Amino acid sequence: MSEPLDTDYLVIGSGIAGLNFALLAAEHGRVAIVTKKRANDTNTNWAQGGVAAVLAPDDSFEQHIEDTLVAGDGLCDRDVVELCVREGPAQVQRLLDVGVRLARDPAGTLDLGREGGHMRHRVVHWEDITGREIQRALLAAIEKHPNITVLDRHIAIDLLSLAKYGGDPACFGAYILDTRSGEVQTVCARATVLATGGTGKVYIYTSNPDVATGDGIAMAYRLGAACCDLEFVQFHPTVLYHPHAGSFLISEALRGEGGKLRLASGETFMEHYHPLKELAPRDVVARAIDKELKKSGADAVFLDMTGLDPAAVRARFPNIYERCLSLGIDITKQGIPVVPAAHYMCGGVKTDEHAQSTIRGLYAIGECAFTGLHGANRLASNSLLEAMVYSTRAASAVREAPRIRPERVAPWSSGNATDSNDAIVVSLNWEEIRRFMWSYVGITRSDKRLERARRRIEILRDEIREYYIDFKVTSDLVELRNLALVAHLVIESARRRKESRGLHYTLDYPDKLPEARHSEIQLTDGPRG
Ligand SMILES: Cc1cc2nc3c(=O)[nH]c(=O)nc-3n(C[C@H](O)[C@H](O)[C@H](O)COP(=O)(O)OP(=O)(O)OC[C@H]3O[C@@H](n4cnc5c(N)ncnc54)[C@H](O)[C@@H]3O)c2cc1C
Repeated sequence: MSEPLDTDYLVIGSGIAGLNFALLAAEHGRVAIVTKKRANDTNTNWAQGGVAAVLAPDDSFEQHIEDTLVAGDGLCDRDVVELCVREGPAQVQRLLDVGVRLARDPAGTLDLGREGGHMRHRVVHWEDITGREIQRALLAAIEKHPNITVLDRHIAIDLLSLAKYGGDPACFGAYILDTRSGEVQTVCARATVLATGGTGKVYIYTSNPDVATGDGIAMAYRLGAACCDLEFVQFHPTVLYHPHAGSFLISEALRGEGGKLRLASGETFMEHYHPLKELAPRDVVARAIDKELKKSGADAVFLDMTGLDPAAVRARFPNIYERCLSLGIDITKQGIPVVPAAHYMCGGVKTDEHAQSTIRGLYAIGECAFTGLHGANRLASNSLLEAMVYSTRAASAVREAPRIRPERVAPWSSGNATDSNDAIVVSLNWEEIRRFMWSYVGITRSDKRLERARRRIEILRDEIREYYIDFKVTSDLVELRNLALVAHLVIESARRRKESRGLHYTLDYPDKLPEARHSEIQLTDGPRG
C-alpha cells in the first residue's frame, strides 16, 4: 500500500470553482486537484448564458441585489447577496485577466445579455458557450502553474477525519480512487476543498453532465457537516426534447432575446402565469410548462425564435443553432421542442463567508456549497459569479489553515470485499432512483409523493449499503452511494418544508409561511452510507 500523498490544498473538482481556487491558492502553497473524469467534464463546461455583473450604465448594484432577493423568495442572506453583487465587476475583470474571451459590441464594450428575473442587461458571455470558454482559459492557466498537479480520472470516495483518531471531526484529506488502476490513494492536506458541482443526475431528466452526482454534499454529510436547503432544486424550463439529444440546454438567453413559448397549437401561454411572461423567474416558467404539458398530455412545448432576424439568431446562438440543425431542427424556421429538467442545486454544504464548512479543514465552493446567495431560487447566471467570489475568498482563508493530520494515517482497506459480479444492481438502482425522484420529488410535490419516495429510497439505500460493503469500490458504486444519499437528503428536506416557496412547490401547502426559514440537515445518528 502506497504512502499517503501530502499537499497543502486538496481540491476535489475541476470546474470554475476548483480551478479558480487552485490558481489563487497556488500562489502560497502546493495544490492537488482531483477530478473524476477528464478535467473538462464539468457543469462549468456546459454553461451557456454567462456571468451576471453590474456593468451597464443604466444598471446598479441595488437593482441586481433586488432582482436576486426577489428570485430568492425571502430566503437569501442579504449580506451575502450584497457581497457577491458588489464583487461582480471585479470578478469579470479577473476572468479577463486569466484569459477568458468575452463578447464585445463593435465599439469594444462588453456585450450584456438579459436573462429571466433580471431587470437589466447584465450577463457577460462568449457566444452561447461561455462556460466552455471559462473552462478552457482556466485550464490553460492551470497547466502552466508549477505548484498545481491535476489528477484526472481520480474520484474522491470519502473524506478523512481526525474523529477516527480520537480528535475532533476536523478534515485532513480524502481517500481517492484512481479509476484506471483501481488503487485507492490517501491524500492528506491542510485544507480540503469540495468543488464537486451539482446534483442533476439525481433526476432522470437533467441538463447536467454525468459527473453531477452530488458527491461533495454526500461526503460532507457523512463527515457530519451541516447541509442546507437541499429541497431547492432548480428545474430549467427549457431542455431540448429529442430522442438523440441527451442533455442539451436551450439557454434562457433565447427568451431574453425575444423567444416565445408556444403550445403545439401555436398559442402562447406565459401571459396567463406571470406579468414578465417568458422572462418570469425560472420556477414560474418551469411550473407553467409542467402544468401545460400535464393538461394537454403533449410531450413538449415549443420555443419559437422565428420572429427574430435569422442572421442575428445564428450569430448570437451558433452552438444551439448548429446542435439543433444537426437534429433536423432549424431554429430560425421552426419552434424548438423543449421540456423542463433538473438544472441547479441551490442548497448545499453550509459555508461561512470564507467558504469554510461547519467542519474544520473542510471548505466548499461553487454549486456544492450553500452560501446564502440563492435563497429559495437562484437568479440566472448568479452561480458562476458565486463560484468566482467564494473560490477567491477560500483561497485567502486557507492560507492560515494549520496542518492537522495525525502522525500515522490508516490506509484504505477493502476488507474481504471481492470484485462485483453483479453490476446490473448498480445500473438498476441508479435508474430507479432517478425515475421516482422525477415523479415524486420533481417540480410539483405533495406529502403523499414525498412519502412514497421516502419509502423507496430507504429500501434502496439498504441494498446499496450491503453492496458497498461486499464489493470492491468502483467509481459507479461511489456515485450510486452518493446519489442515493443525496436523494434521501432532498426528500427529507422537502418533507420538512410545510409551505410552498421559491422552487419548492407542494400541493398540500400551496402558501408561504409568514417566516422564511432555512432547512438545515446534519448527520446525527444512524448509518452513514
Ligand atoms: C447546461 C448548463 C448551463 C448553465 N448555464 C449557466 C450560466 O449561463 N450561468 C451560470 O451562472 N450558471 C450556469 N449553469 C450552472 C453552472 O454552470 C454551475 O453551477 C457551475 O459551473 C458549477 O461549477 P462548479 O465549479 O461548482 O462545479 P462543476 O463545474 O460542475 O465541476 C465539478 C467538478 O467536480 C468533479 N467531481 C465531482 N465529484 C467528484 C469526486 N467524487 N471526485 C473527484 N471529482 C469529482 C467533477 O468531475 C467536476 O470536475 C449552467 C449549468 C448547466 C448544466
